Amino acid sequence: MQVDLRSDTVTQPTEGMMQAMMNAEVGDDVYKEDPTVNQLEAYVAHLFGMDEALYFPTGSMANQTAIKLHTLPGEQLICDKWAHVYNYEGGGASFNSGVSCKLIDGDRGIITAKQVEAGINAPDFYHSPLTSLVCLENTTNKGGGACYDLEEIKKIREVCNQHNLGLHLDGARLMNAIVAQQHDPKEFGALFDTISICLSKGLGAPMGTVLVGNSSLMKNAIRVRKVLGGGMRQVGFAAAAGLYALENHLDQLKADHKKAKELENCLNEQSYIASVEAVETNIIIFYLNSNKISEQDFLNHLDQNSVRISNMGEGKMRMVTHLDYTNAQHDYVRHLLENI
Ligand SMILES: *Cc1c(COP(=O)(O)O)cnc(C)c1O
Repeated sequence: MQVDLRSDTVTQPTEGMMQAMMNAEVGDDVYKEDPTVNQLEAYVAHLFGMDEALYFPTGSMANQTAIKLHTLPGEQLICDKWAHVYNYEGGGASFNSGVSCKLIDGDRGIITAKQVEAGINAPDFYHSPLTSLVCLENTTNKGGGACYDLEEIKKIREVCNQHNLGLHLDGARLMNAIVAQQHDPKEFGALFDTISICLSKGLGAPMGTVLVGNSSLMKNAIRVRKVLGGGMRQVGFAAAAGLYALENHLDQLKADHKKAKELENCLNEQSYIASVEAVETNIIIFYLNSNKISEQDFLNHLDQNSVRISNMGEGKMRMVTHLDYTNAQHDYVRHLLENI
């Protein structure tokens, strides 16, 4: 049995998703004439109660566009030290927007309103870069799928209002948080200026991210997407997969979360495990007890039994559950972990 728990991006389109893609009505989206893309954008804008949405090939491009919309060169954004926008987008914040990042030492990728406020450079102190944007990530990737408390986000919004800062959400896995905490997407739409939502993570589409926001900012998003090379033609075939995922795969996330919790429990019972981060959604981060097993031996053992996971460095091991991780695979992996 082959099991891939490296990421929730490894999924194949489901049968229904393939059908939706095959049957999609398409047009030239650079002319904004692809009916399926237009439908997806309207669907997401409505879902979050925001004015406008725009379809992007990747989450990185959607986040980078948001940063560009909120900032001018030389300015600074505030994010957690583990943020995807800082660590995993190839230095895009400086490359594309000429902005620096003030890194906050958060808890599992989550920062507080107090920390945000302390991170703002005084606007009249012209020696420092002007702070103009706060980027949050929910769920956190490197933080092990941890979710923000909505009350803390409300406080961060107040700080942003007081200091005239934009607030962007890297919501690559926002639907996981929404399902886990039983929120209404509109609660997030009311608090952020822009939100990116990946369709190719837990939702299972082969590609695509939607950036949603209010029209004052979003009116320039299509120009920035063009500059970044993200204008696509008959891309409704891919958008159809995303639309299908939003309409049909949300319940699946609950099953992913349940399996992740079960893997957490299983790992916690093993003597060769030093600790497991508390699982909130579909990501499990754990550390090995080096007195019992080395990183290499552990990974080799999994590899020899056809189970792939991610080594995040600094002793962090990561598994991510997803819709191609079947019940049979789940039994197989737990049995394997219990017999090392
Ligand atoms: C996956 C991911 C993205 C987007 O990544 P792409 O590979 O560019 O689609 C952004 N933020 C987080 C937290 C992610 O996990």
